[in-house]
Amino acid sequence: MNTTLVTDITVEQICKGFVYNKLEGKGLFGLSGKLVIQPEYQRNYLYAENKREESVIHSVLKGYPLGLIYFNKVGNDRYEILDGQQRVTSLGRFLTGKFPLFDADGKPHYYSGLPDDIIRKINETTLTIYICEGDESEIKAWYKTINIAGIPLNHQEISNAVYSGPFVTKAKEKFSNSQNSNIQKWSAYIRGKVNRQDYLRTALEWVARSSNDDAVDDYMSKHRFDTNINELETYFNSVIDWISGTFIDVESEMRGLEWGRLFETYHNTPYDPAKVSEMVRKLYGDVAVKSRKGVFEYILGGCQDTRLLDIRVFEDSTKKAVYEQQTNVAKESGKSNCPLCSLGNDNNSKRIWKYNEMDADHVTAWSKGGATDINNCQMLCVTHNRAKGNK
Ligand SMILES: [Zn+2]
Repeated sequence: MNTTLVTDITVEQICKGFVYNKLEGKGLFGLSGKLVIQPEYQRNYLYAENKREESVIHSVLKGYPLGLIYFNKVGNDRYEILDGQQRVTSLGRFLTGKFPLFDADGKPHYYSGLPDDIIRKINETTLTIYICEGDESEIKAWYKTINIAGIPLNHQEISNAVYSGPFVTKAKEKFSNSQNSNIQKWSAYIRGKVNRQDYLRTALEWVARSSNDDAVDDYMSKHRFDTNINELETYFNSVIDWISGTFIDVESEMRGLEWGRLFETYHNTPYDPAKVSEMVRKLYGDVAVKSRKGVFEYILGGCQDTRLLDIRVFEDSTKKAVYEQQTNVAKESGKSNCPLCSLGNDNNSKRIWKYNEMDADHVTAWSKGGATDINNCQMLCVTHNRAKGNK
C-alpha cells in the first residue's frame, strides 16, 4: 500500500464545494468535488450531537493540530475520507454558516461575520493528510489500526467503508435508515442500533448464512458493485415473515436470537402457530424454565432438547437430604445407595457411593411434568445418571 503525506491542503480548499445533507446528517463533498466526505460510512454526524464541532473550530483558531486525516485514493484525483470525516464536516459546516461560535458573553458569531484576519487564519490553516492507495484487504487491515481515536467504528462500519459502492448505498437506504417505518417491527427480533449498522449487519449475516466476519465481508465483496439488493432484501423479508408467522406472540427474549440459523434449520418444518403460542405461554409460566431465550428454539426443535431451557436444578440442600435418606436405607438393607446399581448383580450392587460420586435426577422427567422438588428427586451414581440423561 502506498501512502503519501500531504500538508499543503488548506481548510478553505477542503471546504470548497462542501455540501451538507441535513436529512442524513452528513457532509457529502469537498475539495472542489474531488473528495467524498462520508461515502458509505454512515457514521452519522455525531460531532453535532456532542457539541464537538465547536471545539474543532476553536482548535483551528488556537493553532492546535487537528490530527491526522486519511484519504483513500479511489481514482485519478478522486478521494474518500477514511478517517477524519467528522472533523472535515465540522469545518465545512462552520464555513457554510451552519453553526456559530459563542464568545465569552454567550453571543453567537457566524463565520461570515468574523473579522477578516480571523477568517484568513481559518482559511489558511493547513491540514495533515495521508493519502493511501491499496487493495481492499490492505486498506481494511490498516484502517483497523488507525481506528483508535474517537468513537471506535464497529466491524460493520469498517466493512461499509471498505466495500463502499452501489450495493452498500442501497442496503443502507433500507437497513440503516431510522426513518424506515419497518424498523419498529424488525426491532422485535433484531438487537442493536440502526445508525450503528446493527440491522444491516443482521441482514447480511442472514443472507450470508453466517455471523462470521469473513463470511459477511465475502458477501459484501462479491456484491459490491451490484446495483440492487434484491437477494439481501428478499432473504431478510423471508426470515422476518417466517418468525412473525410462526410465533404470534412478540416476547422481549426474541430480540437478538440467531434467527438466521433457526430459519435455515426449521423453515421447511410445518408448525401450527396457535399450538406454538400455547407452548410459549406454558413454558413462560413454568418456574423450572430458567432460559426463556431458549424457548423458541426448543419449540421449533419439537420440544426435545431441554438443555435449551436451562431447567432449574435441585438445590444442594435437597440433594444432601435425599442422599442421607437413600444412604441410610441402603446401609440397613445391605444394598447400594444408587437405586439402579442395587438392581444389578455385580460388585456395585452393594456399593455405597460418596455424595460427590452421585448426581440428582428427576424421577419423573421435567419434560413429562416432573417438578424440581424433593419429592421428585433421587440420587444416582454418576454413570447411571448420565445414562438416564441420555435417553
Ligand atoms: Zn448406579
